[in-house]
Amino acid sequence: MKALTDLFFDNRFARLGEAFSSEVLPEPIADPQLVLVSTPAMALLDLDPAQAQLPDFVELCAGHKLWSSAEPRAMVYSGHQFGGYNPRLGDGRGLLLGEVLNNAGEHWDLHLKGAGQTPYSRQGDGRAVLRSSIREFLASEHLHALGIPSSRALCVTSSSTRVWRETQECAAMLLRLAPSHVRFGHFEYFYYTKQPEQLKQLGEHVLSCHFPECLAQPEPYLAMFRSIVERTAELIAGWQAYGFCHGVMNTDNMSIMGITFDFGPYAFLDDFDAQYVCNHSDPQGRYSFSNQVPIAHWNLSALAQALTPLINVDHLRETLGLFLPHYQHHYLERMRRRLGFLSADDGDQALLERLLQLMQGSAVDYTNFFRELGDSAPEHALARLRDDFLDLAGFDAWAADYRARSAADGSAQAERQARMRAANPKYILRNYLAQHAITAAEAGDYGPVRELHQVLSQPFDEQPGFERYAQRPPEDGKHLEISCSS
Ligand code: AMP
Ligand code: MG
Repeated sequence: MKALTDLFFDNRFARLGEAFSSEVLPEPIADPQLVLVSTPAMALLDLDPAQAQLPDFVELCAGHKLWSSAEPRAMVYSGHQFGGYNPRLGDGRGLLLGEVLNNAGEHWDLHLKGAGQTPYSRQGDGRAVLRSSIREFLASEHLHALGIPSSRALCVTSSSTRVWRETQECAAMLLRLAPSHVRFGHFEYFYYTKQPEQLKQLGEHVLSCHFPECLAQPEPYLAMFRSIVERTAELIAGWQAYGFCHGVMNTDNMSIMGITFDFGPYAFLDDFDAQYVCNHSDPQGRYSFSNQVPIAHWNLSALAQALTPLINVDHLRETLGLFLPHYQHHYLERMRRRLGFLSADDGDQALLERLLQLMQGSAVDYTNFFRELGDSAPEHALARLRDDFLDLAGFDAWAADYRARSAADGSAQAERQARMRAANPKYILRNYLAQHAITAAEAGDYGPVRELHQVLSQPFDEQPGFERYAQRPPEDGKHLEISCSS
């Protein structure tokens, strides 16, 4: 275990130079207070959890102090936003503080979000508000606990600094960790600004730092692209399996590591609804729940376009073709586990689609349905769940097929139950839960948000005394409109 001051930095991205990022110092927020801290994220940096109690910790996390070997920089990138190309984005309010090399030999980017204005801030104030910082913290740590790749969150600090959104709000900072902060939009920036040398330099950096296993392949860049396609497909399979709606799948929010990245007005489904749009600034539903699959493919095509100077076009096209089968394979694997099946059967896809259609027709709670399906023997569970469906004939037909399929799978009930509990969370980050906790935090009471974070960090465990966090939202807590401003 290390002390805070012992972190070792090896700032590989900063060494790429001025074409890739600009040096900017964090602008501290006033009277910082520690709102949330993630012990498992601290462990990624080999930090003793007790270090979070030191005054230095909150000062480092709120921009008042800086590690002597950190080299804070704002990265430049561009990207396709809602289908249209935006030539210049970049870190408008977050800084890559540097790369920490941990005892296991892993590099972790430290990124301070809400650290003040940069050359890429455009009209923005460079700040993040408490509400959105808490939402990103909760989601990234929860997704990780669900087994879905995500950037991580070390801590959130709040302050007496005020900023304007729709109303006056409290400025906050989030210290984020990720193996890399390179986005699809980084490659797009150098491609569209016609900087082939820099594009190649970025490609070499990403290849050697993040895909070293591809260096031994006959075509390293192609192998790297294939790996990005596969990782993205696996990521989206995780989102779809657990009802996660990202909300703003612009190419500048897509990580080359295939991790969930840049959280905005995201949501986990309450009722199952394939057409659900969580971002109320997306009236066309471009980023609706079910569109996340074709949109990920579209985003990979945008990345492929930017890689044409490095990779043969036919090879890029062929590799893009791997996305959908790879996605389908991983999605079905995850859903088989959720249904409690050990084996694979050709009819599983159709069985699953029928179930989702029934759930959609009756607005059935997506998380609780699967948890309850695994909690007792199929016939008992199905008899209880039946009440939630309007189309009883449809449900009965499905239930008969499910029972037959489960029987053919042939595992003992105790094993089935243990397996299904490990695949079906009891606790999910529902928007109404986040909203209640945020309201308390905004009033200065951090107890509820800390408790919510604790509960969500063990989503598959029964947690006696905390069952209320597994409840469906009250009617007025469904489809909460989450502001895009953050
Ligand atoms: P986001 O919607 O958070 O993915 O941000 C899109 C772009 O807007 C990125 O370039 C951000 O850095 C920038 N941005 C978002 N909010 C602010 C802000 N308050 N101040 C400056 N830039 C911002
Ligand atoms: Mg973004």
